[in-house]
Amino acid sequence: MLDTRNNYHQIIKWIATVAITTLTVTVCFSQTYHTQSIIGLCMTLLLLCVIGLSFNTKTIQHFRPIILFCSLIYFGFIVGGCPCILFYFQGFILFVAGNTAFWIPFVTIISILILSVIFGPVWCGWLCWLGALQEFIFKQNKWKILSSKKSQKILFYIQTLTFVVLGLWLMIAQRPIICTYDPFISIVRLKIFNWVGYITVPLLLLSSLFIYRPFCRIICPIGWLLFVLKYLPFTTKLKISRCTDCKKCHAHCHFNAIQKDKIFHTCNFCGECKKANCNSIIIQ
Ligand code: SF4
Ligand code: SF4
Repeated sequence: MLDTRNNYHQIIKWIATVAITTLTVTVCFSQTYHTQSIIGLCMTLLLLCVIGLSFNTKTIQHFRPIILFCSLIYFGFIVGGCPCILFYFQGFILFVAGNTAFWIPFVTIISILILSVIFGPVWCGWLCWLGALQEFIFKQNKWKILSSKKSQKILFYIQTLTFVVLGLWLMIAQRPIICTYDPFISIVRLKIFNWVGYITVPLLLLSSLFIYRPFCRIICPIGWLLFVLKYLPFTTKLKISRCTDCKKCHAHCHFNAIQKDKIFHTCNFCGECKKANCNSIIIQ
């Protein structure tokens, strides 16, 4: 039963990869859609497919820090952090609210969501420069703050509330509102734009030092959407099968997403637990 399901998943992954490759090639040679943002989007989606397809191989794991680093350097420091995934989220909500000018953010978010269903939340674990920035600042420590099962549940409720409030605020404001207060932009541009930045920038830097990816787990609306997707029965996710309770994989998971014989919703498909050489963690 599990094998049939895995074969079925594998076929869908290949179909998605071929479709995105065809789209990327078509866009690159097309005169009509030959814009930097659309080519960039196609390339990103293609990379997401390639990572998703090769997730189970050991070689790709060595490239994760390099991919995250390149994403942070290019999208963060070179491009100046704009547009980031938070801008796309805002555009997505505004498009849903009727503003069709934001069709590119809408298509971007829908594509990431669909590919996350097919490949798992590879976006967060491998490509998002906001996640990369927090990950590179983090220093492993003995306290394991906000990692218990109970605190992860509470964080999920806080993130749900943030998502609802942000969504409603965007619909009422009818324009992107996060950008002015975005601490990530201030960090990559080495400039604080308003008084809010004097609070949020140090808060983000300090919390990221002691807590693994605090923004992803408390505030990010895309992270919340990807968490929720994991509750769909057909979404690709990690699962523990025939666990011997040796707990070797626990040490590798900074999210503390591995709880006894279950993988919690916070798993971002980073694949670090694969370094424990345990065959019990499988993709389903
Ligand atoms: S949760 Fe948000 S900020 Fe974190 S990696 Fe995912 S999209 Fe990026
Ligand atoms: S269980 Fe933890 S270490 Fe493994 S892929 Fe998920 S977040 Fe990464």
